[in-house]
Amino acid sequence: MLIPKLLWPLLVYDICSSTVEAIEAKIKKYTRKWLGVPPGFSDVAMYCRKAKLKLPMKSILEEHKCGKARLLTMLEESDDPVVKTVQASLKTGRKWKVTEAADEAKECLKMKEVIGQTQTDRRGLGSTTVKWWSKTEGKEKRDMIIDEIRNKEDSTQVQKAVQHPQQGQWTNWDTALQRSLTWNDIWHMAPLRISFLIWLFRSVYDLLPSNANLVQWGKKDDPTCPLCQGRQTTEHVLSSCEVALSQGRYTWRHNKVLQELASVISTAKGEIHPSSTSSTVFITEGGVKKWHGGSIPINTHRKGLLDGCDDWVVSADLPEWERHPDVIRKTASRPDIVIHSASTQQIIMVELTVPYESRMEEAHAFKEAKYLELTKELKKDGYEAKVMPVEIGARGFVGSSAYGLLSKLSIGGNKRTKALSSRWIWSRRNERLLHND
Ligand SMILES: [Zn+2]
Repeated sequence: MLIPKLLWPLLVYDICSSTVEAIEAKIKKYTRKWLGVPPGFSDVAMYCRKAKLKLPMKSILEEHKCGKARLLTMLEESDDPVVKTVQASLKTGRKWKVTEAADEAKECLKMKEVIGQTQTDRRGLGSTTVKWWSKTEGKEKRDMIIDEIRNKEDSTQVQKAVQHPQQGQWTNWDTALQRSLTWNDIWHMAPLRISFLIWLFRSVYDLLPSNANLVQWGKKDDPTCPLCQGRQTTEHVLSSCEVALSQGRYTWRHNKVLQELASVISTAKGEIHPSSTSSTVFITEGGVKKWHGGSIPINTHRKGLLDGCDDWVVSADLPEWERHPDVIRKTASRPDIVIHSASTQQIIMVELTVPYESRMEEAHAFKEAKYLELTKELKKDGYEAKVMPVEIGARGFVGSSAYGLLSKLSIGGNKRTKALSSRWIWSRRNERLLHND
């Protein structure tokens, strides 16, 4: 659309980066207006590929830089002896020089090869294939330079975000997974949902009209919460107002999410895992799909948690759901979801929390500790039990624990992606919380 058309002349003609910057400033002005954010709002949110809420927008300044770097390396590595010997001169402006950027990228890539592979995210070592600078050639080498330049742009943006206490809060959401929006997602949103998208965007960057923010923007004098007289910040509204809690507003939201999570989990029951062993046979008995295979203890290593057992029953702490088994009901605890096999005496307890995104790790540890006693108690009764705390953030960001749970229940691929980006996360379930009554 807009980007390729714009980029072509930027690549062919020697247009300096300040001109591109001016074009970008204009684009940003309108994008900010559309998103309803203040003029000084940082571009990190719009363009950073590492942001927790990734928008499908590209910075044309960055594309211009990468395009120039690609052109430079193409000329430098040309097979034509004449082109190769003539030193390419590409004008890019005073602020940013393509030769310097490309040289710097090359040095970084060489350095990375010396240091060796390091872990940069939560995936395990060896889970990605590493390309080494000295072992690549031609187009692959060019791509590596471009990637390095992009990486540098991203890192600079994340550094900028970290320094911003309000708009950079997402840099602390360690266990929340990134949400990436495509243009397709946006085009398919009805007007109401676009307004939700804007709400979500503002909530991530703490730009919602909470009373504390309105005071800061000079639009109100009183930052207090009409419900509890505490200071009404975004965090207060979304997760820590005591009156909202006592009125059951957070429970209502929790149960909405729980309802969906329990439905997704109950579909995992009875579905065959593609990589299951031959000892597990999938047969149909009177229309009911069942697993048939030997039992494997729950805490031993295995691919799917539900493998090797054929009578799993899912119960949830919700009105219309199957009640928890007696062995749980006789205790004082009420886990959110219980997946129970009577024949093998195995119990998987799923405990859902809907915390403020920056407190996901804290919530996870808390729930793990809380249910330690219960697992011990169940063990005394001869049950193998496992607790799996999961977090879905107050704004709808999915915790890595939720992703992990679905994987372990053999809900993978498209089905998992669909479950984790479904309407229950996109629904305006916070609407009730935002009422100022
Ligand atoms: Zn309050």
